[in-house]
Amino acid sequence: MNAPILSLCGIQQTYTSRNASGWGSTRVRAVDGIDLDVFEGETLAIVGESGSGKSTLAKLLLMLTSPTSGKALFNGKDFASLDGELRHQFRREVQAVFQDPASSLNPRMTIEKTLRFIVKRHALRSATDIRPFLADCLMRVGLNPPERYLERYPHELSGGQQQRVAIARAMMMAPKVIVADEPLSSLDVSVQAQILDLMKSLRTLTNVGFVVISHDLGAMHSIADRTAVMYRGRIVEIGENIYTHPRHPYTKLLLDARLTADPTRGRIRSMASAPSMPTLAATPNGCRFRPRCHYAVALCETADPMLRPMPIGQTQVACHRAEELSRHFEIPGGGQRAPSTGDSLKA
Ligand code: SF4
Repeated sequence: MNAPILSLCGIQQTYTSRNASGWGSTRVRAVDGIDLDVFEGETLAIVGESGSGKSTLAKLLLMLTSPTSGKALFNGKDFASLDGELRHQFRREVQAVFQDPASSLNPRMTIEKTLRFIVKRHALRSATDIRPFLADCLMRVGLNPPERYLERYPHELSGGQQQRVAIARAMMMAPKVIVADEPLSSLDVSVQAQILDLMKSLRTLTNVGFVVISHDLGAMHSIADRTAVMYRGRIVEIGENIYTHPRHPYTKLLLDARLTADPTRGRIRSMASAPSMPTLAATPNGCRFRPRCHYAVALCETADPMLRPMPIGQTQVACHRAEELSRHFEIPGGGQRAPSTGDSLKA
């Protein structure tokens, strides 16, 4: 694999949060010591529940916030020390797509004005070439015929069309990576599938990479080359086949909790059956997943598990019992044997 475009090295992001009582405040580690590489042409999904630190991680990858500690690298260089030209290169090559496309487009400008502004600002085309360039950009994201969309205002477009415009705006810069923070969550399910297809085809056509932040594991399964599972500011599992061969109990919990009609059991399983995530301010000793883990043993109370490579597959897991548990985690249709409850392994 090539050298990473983006790297986070031991990155931490801490916030001060006012206590619910109104008295005093607490330091909260939204991201707590993460190492992560992002490569050109790959789709990396970052999944987890609300409050797991996904969006803070997206901001760190986009260098929209300075880390409390650790380093963010762009093409191997510390972002904090980049000069003006390299920062400009970063802003071109690493683009963002946000959750709510309507709020990311100026409501007072037509789509043409919005896109034209960016072309001029970055001197992407000469004045005579701008209109054909914009038309081509919209056609590439499936807005055809483009003239119909260029003259409209954002409120005259559907949510899916607005998200296509947001993706077209990012693609205009010929980026190496697009960081998309919950790009599907405001869209209908059928439109979500279309946007996923669009991302796949853009990747095939241009080799652009995507980092997609999402709580929707089903959607991510269909596009991700690698998936990082976040829990309380840490990556607890990262690899290529976490959907069929989960190794961390939290990954297994998320996969079981997908609101899915399970044909093998004839019932709906939902996240509501799982204990909820404790507040970020109250990180337990030892493994931070311990209060919710059915498989915790004495070691989990005293030793904080670090991400470590598994003997088989390109997966890293932060669990003391990962090798043992992974043999018994079953994903329906995933081809693994064993009781789904894992009762025989419970501590
Ligand atoms: Fe559960 Fe222990 Fe693994 Fe943490 S380290 S996930 S508590 S088994």
